Amino acid sequence: DAQGLSAHEEKIFVAVRVRPLNEREIAKNDESDWECINNNTILFKNGLAERSMFPTAYTFGKQILGPVSDEFYYLGVYGRPYSHICIWSDRVFGCDSSTKQVYEEGAKKVALSALSGINSSVFAYGQTSSGKTYTMCGITEYTVADVYDYIHRHSDREFVLKFSAMEIYNESVRDLLSSDSTPLRLLDDPERGTVVEKLTEVTLRDWSQLKELLSICEAERQIGETSLNETSSRSHQILRLTIESSARKFLGAENSSTLAATVNFVDLAGSERASQNLSAGTRLKEGCHINRSLLTLGTVIRKLRLTFPLLEVLFPFCLLGKREVISSLRKGRNGHIPYRDSKLTRILQNSLGGNARTAIICTMSPAHSHVEQSRNTLLFAVCAK
Ligand code: ADP
Ligand code: MG
Repeated sequence: DAQGLSAHEEKIFVAVRVRPLNEREIAKNDESDWECINNNTILFKNGLAERSMFPTAYTFGKQILGPVSDEFYYLGVYGRPYSHICIWSDRVFGCDSSTKQVYEEGAKKVALSALSGINSSVFAYGQTSSGKTYTMCGITEYTVADVYDYIHRHSDREFVLKFSAMEIYNESVRDLLSSDSTPLRLLDDPERGTVVEKLTEVTLRDWSQLKELLSICEAERQIGETSLNETSSRSHQILRLTIESSARKFLGAENSSTLAATVNFVDLAGSERASQNLSAGTRLKEGCHINRSLLTLGTVIRKLRLTFPLLEVLFPFCLLGKREVISSLRKGRNGHIPYRDSKLTRILQNSLGGNARTAIICTMSPAHSHVEQSRNTLLFAVCAK
């Protein structure tokens, strides 16, 4: 089992990225609540201020106990101020980190595994305005640059790259590379699994063509952001790069081995849409619909993870030990993974779980005014690991 566990840990990489305070937040004297004390730990530093501003019911412990699942009863920290809470993850990127760093130290290994025939997905998860698109655009570009670099260094193989792009809005799938906005259907192919019917797949000539396609997708999205703010925060964008390669046939060479895999870059809907995790006040706000794909993704990832989330609550008097926590987590695990419950998880099924590699970059705002959402995002990060 030990081996299985370490293999699993390599399969899901979870990082947290905190963006800097923006000008609007600075102008409003909003303050940063979080401190990244090292590469793996983020600390809530505003506990005392928080305690005097909110009733104690607003502690991290209660927040967790309510919405997630029975598995989390172990965080029995009702009534404690969460100034004491540290969260570990595979990697924490503070507000002075660059996207290049997030790529190099976070997403790169996962994204490039497609070069060796292993499907992979890189996700950005977080509330609207926390930096998902900012982070994913950069990661996509760095990956593509590295893929082309790899191709140039491996002249013994022949590569074919294909690109497609789609958006899921209200459980309806749209092709981002086609002017036809008819929703696309998902079909079950006995060999390839779930296939998006009629999705445009462009066979790439070169890097510059891919850069062009990326900027088309970005423009599509930006139109969404100015005229239809709601759409952009509610939709998921999937950019998909398929890499096929085969050994070049030299004279006398037999049977060339072929490899094929996809890497998905997924810019998720704003996590405030997973209102299951929201506090009652926010949930009551009009127009805050539960996003089925986002919720199902959370469930799928929670079911996939095997190991104890690297979270500990720094109470000297914490009631449960790590061993009990692990066994309680194991109990909550069950064999059925509900990929089929949403479009997003159906489309990504082959790139999520199994042998596939996954990186989840959880983006968050440091601002005190976003503290509830930031805690939900960290909770997701903890559950994913
Ligand atoms: P989201 O896609 O999560 O809604 P965006 O990526 O659009 O959020 O980011 C919101 C704003 O914050 C954008 O103007 C973006 O340029 C800026 N931003 C996000 N992350 C960072 C960062 N790490 N450093 C600097 N600016 C950032
Ligand atoms: Mg965005």
